[in-house]
Amino acid sequence: MLEHEDSENFKCKTNCSKPFFPIFFYNWLLTIFFKKDQLPYKVSLENYTSIADVGHKKLDIQFVLKNFDSLKPVSLKTKGDYLGFTENNFWSSTTIVNTTNGELKYYFETARPITNIVELYVVNQQTGKIIKHISGDEKKFSQRSYPHRKCLFYLVIPPNSQLKLVLHVKSDGDVLKLPLILYSTEAFVNVNSTEQFVFGFFYGLLFFVAIVCFFLFISLKELTFLYYSLYVVSVGLLQFALDGYFYQYITPSGGWFSKHAVLLLAIVGAFILGRYSELFLQIKKNSERLYLVYKISYISFVALFLVTVFVPAALFYSYQIVNFLALIFFIIVLYSISYLLYSKKEVDILYVLGIFFLIIGFGVFILNNVGVIPNTFVTQNSSKIGTGLEVIFLSLSMANLIRKLKNEKEEFNRIALVKSEEMNELKSYFLSNISHELRTPLNVITNLVESASAEVKDKKTKKNCEVITYSAQSLLGSVNDILDFSKIEKNELRLEKKEFDVLNIFRNVRYNAKLKSKDKGLKFKFKKPELQSLVIIGDENRLFQILNNVLNNAIKFTTEGSVEFKVEIEMKSDNLASIKMIVSDTGVGIAKEKKDSLFDSFSQHSIDNKRKFGGLGLGLYIVKTLVDMQGGHIAIDSELGKGTVCTIILDYEIPEKKTVVAPVVTEAAVCDLGGKTILVVEDNAMNQMVIKMITKKWLNTVVIFANNGQEGLDAFAANRIDLVLMDLQMPVMDGYEATIAIRNGQVGEQNARIPIIAVTADVMESTKQRVAEIGMNHYLTKPINKEVLYQTIKQYV
Ligand code: ADP
Repeated sequence: MLEHEDSENFKCKTNCSKPFFPIFFYNWLLTIFFKKDQLPYKVSLENYTSIADVGHKKLDIQFVLKNFDSLKPVSLKTKGDYLGFTENNFWSSTTIVNTTNGELKYYFETARPITNIVELYVVNQQTGKIIKHISGDEKKFSQRSYPHRKCLFYLVIPPNSQLKLVLHVKSDGDVLKLPLILYSTEAFVNVNSTEQFVFGFFYGLLFFVAIVCFFLFISLKELTFLYYSLYVVSVGLLQFALDGYFYQYITPSGGWFSKHAVLLLAIVGAFILGRYSELFLQIKKNSERLYLVYKISYISFVALFLVTVFVPAALFYSYQIVNFLALIFFIIVLYSISYLLYSKKEVDILYVLGIFFLIIGFGVFILNNVGVIPNTFVTQNSSKIGTGLEVIFLSLSMANLIRKLKNEKEEFNRIALVKSEEMNELKSYFLSNISHELRTPLNVITNLVESASAEVKDKKTKKNCEVITYSAQSLLGSVNDILDFSKIEKNELRLEKKEFDVLNIFRNVRYNAKLKSKDKGLKFKFKKPELQSLVIIGDENRLFQILNNVLNNAIKFTTEGSVEFKVEIEMKSDNLASIKMIVSDTGVGIAKEKKDSLFDSFSQHSIDNKRKFGGLGLGLYIVKTLVDMQGGHIAIDSELGKGTVCTIILDYEIPEKKTVVAPVVTEAAVCDLGGKTILVVEDNAMNQMVIKMITKKWLNTVVIFANNGQEGLDAFAANRIDLVLMDLQMPVMDGYEATIAIRNGQVGEQNARIPIIAVTADVMESTKQRVAEIGMNHYLTKPINKEVLYQTIKQYV
């Protein structure tokens, strides 16, 4: 029998451990006997196996059978089943004796699923017949003698026979392990069903987590989820490869990819875990240095990947390097966690637990791999258990991340809302402020030009003055539009309710429109109502503004032909009149598709004739708002190239006692204050000049100027004052403070009730209210209209 032939090495080994036993006795000890009534359920053959490392030598079975002892075999049990990282060929030999009269059937598990070459020669010692079984992932899966993911063989042991199991195994540099377990059919079924349950749960969990995280990435656009999903996929595939499923189901034809799958997936998995951890722990934000370390480790992984793919000779080292790099990488992640905890940065405890389980799982797996701890179901599957627990905890930490992102988003939205409100406020403030800033000098220009025009005789200069006045007024119109727009935006536009003769308004509107039409060479027709006068209750300025706007548009957008203004009044009842105002022109018209945006603010966005005709695009928006506020109706009918008809219908209340309203005086009559003294408290020199210019034509009027509230108060000491025109925003002491001081009797009880008129550029509703609250008698807005100023002052003195 071959077993009885000695080899030097074998002798030495056996002599070392059992010096006095005869060799045949020891070989007899290495033989496993299957006895009736003692048939093993599952047995490890490690203790009955000797193994020879033949290096890179390619031997055949006949040679090995003849010269096995000269190959210097050693007892496998002395090293456990661990053969280390190796590319060498190993030959092992085990003898089985079936002492029973029956045929025995066993499943023989040999090397790890990912071993490259596994060949089992079953030598019948009595007949000398040799049967070759093959497995390993170098060949096609279909060529396996027994189609199983593990390197497993089906053994039939004839009755009263002695079999020699000679195993040839070879790896490509990865760890080589030989569990060498014989399973009875029952044991095999049991192990398989347990594994299938555990694996099904494990892979199912990974699949589920990967899909969910991928969807979360799609919806939240957060890269951490993508990396986590990819990590779960790669770690799942790595386990899949380690278990032999990758080869069985994905690369059943074997080949290069099949052989390298574990290595490549390990590199990819470690790389993605790195990226994921880096993003999750916000390394870039938290530490530039650590971020650099991560970057270096990525470069190492990429380099290793490339070397594995392109340098076949380096494969042997790649297995060891990837283990080493993975270890280093775990240390980097652990260091990052400790660093963040030490620097009091927030680290999710669930993430820490996840990584902890991963490290424990792989730690045990590696220790088992290198033979430090024994083979059990738990140690063999520790990486899977670790990964499973890791995935569960990391998924929980991802749930935390979602919550964090949601909170961050809510906070972001809140800040954005506050900011946008602030911006809106600022915009409104800016708009009204800039309009005031423009209105003041514009006012000065118009007033100055007006008085200059009155003084000069030269026709050409007079004409130039008219042009300046016209331009300044049109600029003032635009500025007023912006002011109105900002009031509408802030919901501060209010309508007045006063009695006025609407026919006066029509006359004034017609007068202006006629002049402008004439300037443009257009015909202007006015179809007035039959009534000569109709006193109604409403906001006369706003009606004027509406009609002016619509008529100005008609004139502006008409280059030839005519503009017509028609008014129809229908008495709905004794106290309600419906006024229909129709403005039609023969101008450019409006394209159908643009009609919808006519009443939008800044409608020049959508209507492209802007540059040709100019304008802010606010007119119709304001008109529509004003009409709506009065419960009226506006419609624009237009045909491109033919003209436009704008119809406005407004209902007005008619006062019970019809007062006769005098026609609006266009040219002021003589202004005479009968010797009254007015104190003007105003810091702006331009505004002072405007008031000076207006009041210098008034008879019997004394005007005193003060540059701020304090100077205003001081002025009372030396003068008898009848009325105060008070600006609001001033240095040293503002108009509010000064008014309060006056009302509190600081300038004498006799002056405490003196009429104070606020003259301000601020048209905000809140200002108007505050002015009334502190006891001012009236509120005038700049630019000052000279008639209005005179009428108002006259009312109080
Ligand atoms: P603006 O006149 O400052 O441009 P509006 O709000 O008054 O702004 O008008 C909005 C747009 O509607 C104008 O730019 C113009 O294109 C169109 N539009 C208004 N009235 C007429 C009209 N009578 N004829 C032709 N287009 C008009």
